Amino acid sequence: MHPLGNQTRTLGLLGWPVAHSVSPPMHNAAFKEAGLNCHYAAFAVPPNLVQQAVHGLAALGLVGANVTIPHKEAVIPHLDEIGPSARLVGAVNTIVVHADGRLVGHNTDGPGFMALLQDSGVDPAGRRCVVLGAGGASRAVATHLALAESSQVAVINRTVARAEEVVAQVAEAVGRDAPALLALSPHDSKTGTALRTADLIVNCTPLGMHPDVDSTPLPDLSILRDSCAVVDTIYHPQETRLLREAAERGLTAVGGLGMLVHQGALSWEYWFGRKGPAGAMMAAAGRALEAQG
Ligand code: NAP
Repeated sequence: MHPLGNQTRTLGLLGWPVAHSVSPPMHNAAFKEAGLNCHYAAFAVPPNLVQQAVHGLAALGLVGANVTIPHKEAVIPHLDEIGPSARLVGAVNTIVVHADGRLVGHNTDGPGFMALLQDSGVDPAGRRCVVLGAGGASRAVATHLALAESSQVAVINRTVARAEEVVAQVAEAVGRDAPALLALSPHDSKTGTALRTADLIVNCTPLGMHPDVDSTPLPDLSILRDSCAVVDTIYHPQETRLLREAAERGLTAVGGLGMLVHQGALSWEYWFGRKGPAGAMMAAAGRALEAQG
């Protein structure tokens, strides 16, 4: 292991708040595993200082950064270039600082989600998918489910106008090969049918996330098909109420930690030209979450 010193190269996470992020222990364990003299820090960036923080990455000679809530869209105007992965979902979670100081934004959330599905043996091709929520995670998930040739993507959100925005963005990103796309409110007459016929349901709301662990976005799982798979993008706790009840109902239930690990491992491809060591990253992220209780 390299001691921190003048040769150590820095990376970090821009978010607000970031105090409980497991990305620093996850990436630092990966640097140790890979023998890289790098250090990853969490930077709490208030919304009014996003521009200064982004330009500071180049000024201070960082390798790059990840971006999390609430800055994934806000960083875009301050970057020199947006790669295709970020353009696809309109959000940046990975920034690369090039040798000439150019800042380029990418997004690994959607590919990270697809890698989680692959690990779990869930193939959305030809399947009817439901995405709960219409924020940043929903946009990445819905777009990549559509790109993976699912037959239908229904986005259900309490604010239906936001679900409509997600669906419009997916239609634009995927073009004429887009599957059937539905924007629904929880009370829409078509929502029951979408849930009853779903092959895959993905929670992209914070319902059930620590400390709100007694909440669930779907209180009644009895209506779901026996073959339905349920994925929760939440990773703290690793088993949410939704996942616990899905498993009790005999459904395939998959948590979000693998998505976090894969998006981080894929960020390495942009920074270092190779994927991060997912095994070491998973172990370190799991330990960090356990330590948080
Ligand atoms: P976001 O942009 O704030 O969107 C949250 C969505 O959830 C919005 O559509 C919001 O509805 C809905 N929502 C929030 N509170 C709700 C409530 N009480 N009842 C019903 N709907 C509610 O957040 P995000 O960035 O998409 O993140 C969403 C979740 O994904 C978080 O739990 C986060 O942990 C998870 N995530 C995981 C990963 C990973 O790597 N595993 C990556 C990204 C995100 P409105 O539109 O009506 O406000």
